[in-house]
Amino acid sequence: MATIFSKIIEGDIPCHKVAETDNHIAFLDINPIAEGHTLVVPKKEIDYFFDLPDALMEETMDVSKTIAKAIDETLNPLRTGVIVQGLEVPHAHVHLIPLYKENQVMALGHNVNVSEDRMLEIKKQIAARVDL
Ligand code: AMP
Repeated sequence: MATIFSKIIEGDIPCHKVAETDNHIAFLDINPIAEGHTLVVPKKEIDYFFDLPDALMEETMDVSKTIAKAIDETLNPLRTGVIVQGLEVPHAHVHLIPLYKENQVMALGHNVNVSEDRMLEIKKQIAARVDL
């Protein structure tokens, strides 16, 4: 069965998309742990991140770097952190987490409340700065 991320890639489920290339899509996490929490997802459905072929993993990190820079310019965090977990959705992806303070908890499940209006605003602002 297709993963929820494959359904997003196919356009069957909506998302707050910030970027798309031939091989990747990036969108805001629906349960953010920080404003601007973004997922970078290879379109090829592979469960475990470390099973990605080398070239695809390299491309995933290149795309993640570009989007992290766009997040930094847009939201001005101290820096943007990275989580690779994959315990909920069996489709490899990178979490980009803007870190706004030194002691910010960077763990999935520690959600923050971001309104739909703010999600739309953030998505547009990051998307405008991504050059892929
Ligand atoms: P994990 O698989 O543990 O790395 O976490 C999966 C992440 O995907 C979680 O942070 C979820 O909030 C996020 N997520 C699940 N479904 C969606 C969706 N439809 N749109 C955006 N993010 C999602």
